[in-house]
Amino acid sequence: MTDSFDVIVIGGGPAGYPAAIRAAQNGLKAACIDDWKNRDGSRAFGGTCLNAGCIPSKAMLESTELYHRAQVEFQAHGILVEKLGLDLGTMQKRKGEIVKQLTGGIGALFKANKVEGLQGRGRFLGDGKVEYTDTGGKKKTLTARHVVLATGSTPIELPSVPFDGKAIVDSWGALEFDAVPGRLGVIGAGVIGLELGSVWRRLGAEVTVLEAMDQFLWMADEQIAREAARHFKKQGLDIRLGAKVQGAKKGKSGVTLSYEDKGGRQELTVDKVIVCVGRRPYSDELLADGTGVTVDKRGFVEVDEECRTGAKNVWAVGDLVRGPMLAHKGTEEGVMVADLIAGKIAEVNYEVIPSVIYTAPEIAWVGKTEAQAKEAGIDYKTGSFPFAPNGRAKAIGQAAGFVKIIANKRNDAIIGAHVIGPMAGELVSELVVAMEFQASVEDIQRTVHAHPSLAEVIHEAALAVDRKALHGVNR
Ligand code: NAD
Repeated sequence: MTDSFDVIVIGGGPAGYPAAIRAAQNGLKAACIDDWKNRDGSRAFGGTCLNAGCIPSKAMLESTELYHRAQVEFQAHGILVEKLGLDLGTMQKRKGEIVKQLTGGIGALFKANKVEGLQGRGRFLGDGKVEYTDTGGKKKTLTARHVVLATGSTPIELPSVPFDGKAIVDSWGALEFDAVPGRLGVIGAGVIGLELGSVWRRLGAEVTVLEAMDQFLWMADEQIAREAARHFKKQGLDIRLGAKVQGAKKGKSGVTLSYEDKGGRQELTVDKVIVCVGRRPYSDELLADGTGVTVDKRGFVEVDEECRTGAKNVWAVGDLVRGPMLAHKGTEEGVMVADLIAGKIAEVNYEVIPSVIYTAPEIAWVGKTEAQAKEAGIDYKTGSFPFAPNGRAKAIGQAAGFVKIIANKRNDAIIGAHVIGPMAGELVSELVVAMEFQASVEDIQRTVHAHPSLAEVIHEAALAVDRKALHGVNR
């Protein structure tokens, strides 16, 4: 192995590994150092997203949704199941296999693109030098013309409810339960809380979600949040707002969480607790003194729009820097940086980054919420259309939710799009592309959408902006 590279990427998650691949595609000699260690001691590229986050959670969400639908919907299709059972071990095994296939795929991609994949720890020493400690503990100093920091983020721990890896776990631990907890407490009604709360609720757990904020899903459009709350309540998720958790006591009957809400001091006893109150950038022990890279009070590496740090030829991308902690945002930053290093033109459009919550119904959006449009002083118009009258939605038996489009009244440009309903995460892509191309509502209105398809609801929502929807009440 050579010790000198054009580009060394520290971190092999969804921001780091694409940066290394693109750098190699650009003809640069690239290495990617990654320190991920699985619970069984095995090593894998892919970071939190592939090993312990996005991918395994989506596998569990799919399996549990199928289990739930088999219980409550199959009969309506004329499918009679004599005795429905749950084999959690097989469900977990399937999840593990998907993760293995995808993380193994990164190794293959590195090989095909001639990226040097290095397992172990990377630390930036300054001046183009990176200390690499291999999995056996042996240290070596590598040099690079450019260094890309991409070490991601890690769950925030509540000092009053410390993780114990058994009864009080983070999102990774919550994907690995070997039995369905009878009573599950979830701290934080954010993306992880809702997704993982849904997983275990569908398998029969009694789920209580404690959320400190008074407003449910504050980051989503208010109308969407209201609709989501209605469905989650119907599914039996007990979401308690304005509940500030203050402590946890472990006893014979489980973990007793104490929290404060409008009514005063409250207690909740559960068998397991998932703490998902956000993530913090993982910049621990990443930088030697005097590198010129600055880290803010919260641990984020400071960068400009093009992900340049304060040090020459040192870049930082993904959860380690400002902006939403989303895998796809990190990927685009990694690719942008690899292109900029190669002297190409590249940018990330931070105004058009989709968000998806993989609950049922699924929630997805891009651009501004109505409240943000109002706050920005934009003279806007909106159009909404439900999935209920849509033929495809009816056929698949998932007709809850709606699409809402927000547009600038002055020039008809789409400034926000919100979907709650079946396949929202897939459907939103049409609106992401539309916004990236600065499309008007009329562009969507004049675009032919296949029939029958769920995307027709987007078409109708666009028509509804000008009160021209064909199959329902215009609102
Ligand atoms: P989050 O920021 O989405 O939500 C955390 C919630 O916890 C907030 O609503 C906050 O008000 C609440 N909270 C904070 N302290 C609390 C306390 N003491 N008591 C009660 N509630 C408290 O964070 P997350 O759900 O942990 O997710 C972490 C990151 O991972 C997010 O940036 C998220 O976007 C990302 N993520 C994305 C996806 C996806 O794209 N589908 C999935 C999982 C995670």
